[in-house]
Amino acid sequence: MAERNTYDALALLSGGLDSILAVRTIMDQGLTVLGLHFVTPFFGKPHLIPFWRDHYGIEAVEVDIRQEYVDMLLDGPSQGFGKWLNPCIDCKIIMLEHAHALMKEYGAKFLVSGEVVGQRPMSQREDALNLITKRAEVRDVLLRPLCAKNLPPTPMEASGLVDRERLLDWAGRGRKPQYALAEHYGFTEIPTPAGGCCLTEIQGSARFVRLLTHRDRPTPNDFTLARTGRQVWSCAHWLAFGRTGEDNDQLAACAEPGDYVFKLADFPGPLAIGRPLQGDWDPEVIRDAAALISSYSGKARKRFEASNEPIRVTVRRLGRTETVAVIPARETTLKWAEPAPESVRAWKKERAQA
Ligand code: SF4
Repeated sequence: MAERNTYDALALLSGGLDSILAVRTIMDQGLTVLGLHFVTPFFGKPHLIPFWRDHYGIEAVEVDIRQEYVDMLLDGPSQGFGKWLNPCIDCKIIMLEHAHALMKEYGAKFLVSGEVVGQRPMSQREDALNLITKRAEVRDVLLRPLCAKNLPPTPMEASGLVDRERLLDWAGRGRKPQYALAEHYGFTEIPTPAGGCCLTEIQGSARFVRLLTHRDRPTPNDFTLARTGRQVWSCAHWLAFGRTGEDNDQLAACAEPGDYVFKLADFPGPLAIGRPLQGDWDPEVIRDAAALISSYSGKARKRFEASNEPIRVTVRRLGRTETVAVIPARETTLKWAEPAPESVRAWKKERAQA
């Protein structure tokens, strides 16, 4: 087996601006850094790894923690949730534990993270940073270069491996120093501050809460499906369908043999996945879903209006395909509806009282 490259440090690299600047700050000292890009059903854009290399000069690898992350979420994060379904402190602990475990493999002497004291309400308060460091058992190896001068010196600074004078003293929520440093590096594309995590969004959280209401232990694939495209539910019947070609591709990648995979037979339109959570769907449910899906094809609707002829939708499941003929309709008997945002607070409250 080919030997791995070695690095002075491993860094948590979400792809957000802070993580990129933290890596570059250490690279400026002539040290080599490998970015670890963690992927879960809720965040992770591994397709950007080549872009980060070309645009920011940062090498990175994907680290898949899907199952472990979902288990943490389902078992209940030890430090609770943030505003919506984001378990930020436990999330950081998991990533740092993984990074710590990978140090030996890459010959790394320390870890880098782009946190800034006081920048985020949940995970970047000073007490939270200390808790994360302690729980992940990385006190002696973790360096936070963007706010290092506001924290006690680490062993890496004390030993001279890293020059403390060339680290930063950022604090608080302001973003000006970040943008100034990005400009200094000549970045022409400035990523968003954080890496993009749908657990911090109310709409994203509502989708997951609906899933959690109907399935005891959803799988990583369930969560990925819940994140993709348009989502509608009717009682325990769950339907996800594409709004774009990219959504359709992602839905196709999520499809499991037991799913109902809907596709318009004669027109372009959304691909849809019906995932049965409580037994097989009745034929009326399949027809109802097909009617809804066909209404999202402009061409199919026009054809129906012009000819009054039903639209054909194919439904594939367990290796068999059947075709149903339906009238396109947005308002159907089953009253499919998107997950309600207000369900998130109610779910969290109920869970806290359980
Ligand atoms: S915002 Fe999302 S990715 Fe970032 S720490 Fe919180 S849970 Fe983790």
